[in-house]
Amino acid sequence: MKLTARVQQVTPSMTLAIDTKAKAMKREGIDVISFSVGEPDFDTPPHIRAAAEAALEQGKTRYGAAAGEPRLREVIAQKLQRDNGLCYGADNVLVTNGGKHSLFNLMLALIEPGDEVIIPAPYWVSYPEMVKLAGGTPVIVSTTLETGYKITPEQLQQAITPNTKLFVFNSPSNPTGMVYTPDEVKALASVIVERDIWVVADEIYEKLLYDGAQHLSMGAVSPEAYDRTIVSSGFAKTYAMTGWRVGFLAGPVDLIKAAITIQGHSTSNVCTFAQYGAIAAYEQSQDCVQQMLAAFAERRQVILDYLNAIPGFTCPKPEGAFYVFPNIAQLGISSLEFCDKLLETQQVAAVPGIAFGANDCIRFSYATDVDSIRRGMDRLTQFVRSL
Ligand code: GLU
Repeated sequence: MKLTARVQQVTPSMTLAIDTKAKAMKREGIDVISFSVGEPDFDTPPHIRAAAEAALEQGKTRYGAAAGEPRLREVIAQKLQRDNGLCYGADNVLVTNGGKHSLFNLMLALIEPGDEVIIPAPYWVSYPEMVKLAGGTPVIVSTTLETGYKITPEQLQQAITPNTKLFVFNSPSNPTGMVYTPDEVKALASVIVERDIWVVADEIYEKLLYDGAQHLSMGAVSPEAYDRTIVSSGFAKTYAMTGWRVGFLAGPVDLIKAAITIQGHSTSNVCTFAQYGAIAAYEQSQDCVQQMLAAFAERRQVILDYLNAIPGFTCPKPEGAFYVFPNIAQLGISSLEFCDKLLETQQVAAVPGIAFGANDCIRFSYATDVDSIRRGMDRLTQFVRSL
């Protein structure tokens, strides 16, 4: 079979592949401890499930508008105004099949051959592949431990060419867990405005912040930054709703209309009753978010204490999301080989940094219980000693 050049240049998602493998091993009865996929281990909070169940009972089981349930679009716009200082109405919002799908729709609507998209590395595994699928060229800008794996305004300036269309900005970051300070966001926004490029702010981890870290939305920096910003986010990480597949894209009406057209010919509406769960997530109490955040904060400390005690590991303290991203360069082993052997010999799953454009690092997701973290870290320590 001759497959398209489009798909042949794309690599499969390593985060999903490792998660699938770890889950299959578990089903076979193997005691796998997984730090692989970024998926909270909590059940979706009861009030969100109840809202979706009620919607099912009320017959919200039919096709809906491709753009999303009108009430959910409104609720998302209100949230963006209230929490992020972004002046959006329902027309500025498209409900998508998860955060990933919102980015995919965006790339299809905005990027075409000849366009360059600036992506700081380490990056989330799917950004460059989505750009390629849209026919664009990912321009990877490597960042270092010294700058906290954050792109500097100078690096952004230098990467911009007349072909630059979009800058992908993710804070808190997957995979590093780093959070850009408000001043850092403002400095990057100045470059975006001055050079007149688009930016997509992937804010899916915005509520998962530690040690007093603050999240500033790129579009809230100034009216000029707002005019050039597109927001991508979703419910999966904040409300433990990974399997529900509800996310959103927000931005200028013209862009949202184009993305709705794409969605209208691809997936149509997001699962109707799932959207009612999402409405409850934003409209009702946020106590569940605080409870999950407190659990993540405890786990973060436990995993960091272990990782910092492993010789050859350099592990910056993340201020957001639920990932740690230690550097293992001193061990002289590639991230892929490290993770393969770790899974094979210790039944511990983690994602090699190469998936994120950083072959010296390993990503551990600590969205799992403390007991599993302790057991997994004991195995990891033993593994590193054996190298
Ligand atoms: N975003 C999560 C992760 O990085 C889920 C898997 C994926 O979609 O890549 O692990």
